[in-house]
Amino acid sequence: MNDLIIMEQEASEVISELEKHGYEAYYVGGYVRDKFLNRNIKDIDITTSAYPSIVMDIFSHTVPTGLQHGTVTVVMRNYHFEVTTYRTESEYEDHRRPKEVRFVSKLMDDLERRDFTMNAMAIDINGTIIDPFGGKRDLSTKILKCVGDPLLRFSEDALRMMRAIRFAAEYDLQVEQKTWNAILLHKEEIKHIAMERISAELDKMMEGSNPKKGVQLLIASELMNYTKENLQIHKTNWLALSDHSVLNVFEHIHEGTIRWILLLMLLKTETSQMTVLLKKLKFSNHKIMRIHVVNQVKDCLNEQNYSESSWKKAVIMFGVDAVKDLHTLLNALAIDQHYFKLLPFKMSKVDLDHILQKGLDWIDEIPIMQIRELEISGTDVVGLKSKSGPWIRIVLNQLLTEVALNELENKQEDLMNRAIQIVRGMNEYE
Ligand code: ATP
Ligand code: MG
Repeated sequence: MNDLIIMEQEASEVISELEKHGYEAYYVGGYVRDKFLNRNIKDIDITTSAYPSIVMDIFSHTVPTGLQHGTVTVVMRNYHFEVTTYRTESEYEDHRRPKEVRFVSKLMDDLERRDFTMNAMAIDINGTIIDPFGGKRDLSTKILKCVGDPLLRFSEDALRMMRAIRFAAEYDLQVEQKTWNAILLHKEEIKHIAMERISAELDKMMEGSNPKKGVQLLIASELMNYTKENLQIHKTNWLALSDHSVLNVFEHIHEGTIRWILLLMLLKTETSQMTVLLKKLKFSNHKIMRIHVVNQVKDCLNEQNYSESSWKKAVIMFGVDAVKDLHTLLNALAIDQHYFKLLPFKMSKVDLDHILQKGLDWIDEIPIMQIRELEISGTDVVGLKSKSGPWIRIVLNQLLTEVALNELENKQEDLMNRAIQIVRGMNEYE
């Protein structure tokens, strides 16, 4: 049995158990949508008439993940499922959260609170679809449409505007005119939404199947002009992307983070500004660092050149992963010389081809990449000067670079002799 069949089997056990106890339960939301589209299923959400306390009584292993929203996670043998009590939301505060969540007894009321027609479908245990708002029809005709009045729905929760764009991009949908007009009217209300939630949507969009469409819709909606923190995106560069085929390059990059690097480069964001922008978007430090270092490699190679030795030195200085990330990016850009010219690389077509052909082999040729792999250590060189200090690291780094470039053998004697020379050179300048 494959994983999905096992997951569906366990989910059906959850539903039938709830039914056995006299409650209603259905598959709902993203699972129903993705099942209909034959897309990859990540998880299965279940909606039920049973109150959270009852769900917790019925199943032996549960986690109260979001009781205030009526969500209990039911842990089965291999998978866990979010089981949420039918609910409505009322009186939204600050365009972002309902003042009150009320449990209700009818499935219909629960589906009505959901954002888009395609997300407001349910399936019962026998496979019958409950689709009161025409979600299936909208998916077949590739339309993204709010449940109910879009003006009201976006005014209740401004994050839905970001979700609309993310879903339209992911599933290649046309945003229905009334829904789109409502986004344009409510765009300023995006300022009420926490940056973390915005960037979670942006991230899903950038990692998804069509970031090009997502970026174009974002530009057209102007939502990014009104975020809580001013992202200070260069307006002309941002608008210029809208009808530029360079965004096709996203298709040739499979990793979200490298797509971000491309986007930021296209916006001509300076390396120093990038970190500021990514911090405002509340990216993890790890991700910020990864993006930052790739840009440092680019800046460094721009300043020197894209020769074999600069490339290898960059590996030593910035790490192999950053140089490989840059290679991936260059590889995608190389599909069209015209795209390449739009980016801040100071390299010729000849250099580019050379790097693409040889860059990865050059990395493989590097015998060692870390100071600790040298056959001598700080203790061996410390005696070469009267006192220890930062010079030790400088010497070891120099040795590492020379070994990496195959100019020096990683043998104790050779290393020591070279270290003596380097220190002598240093002394002359002191
Ligand atoms: P994915 O998991 O791929 O992002 P999803 O549809 O499962 O897609 P979730 O954020 O997991 O999205 O939400 C599950 C369901 O909850 C949605 O399908 C939708 O019915 C409802 N929902 C989520 N967020 C909102 C919202 N802001 N407003 C109204 N309904 C929402
Ligand atoms: Mg989901």
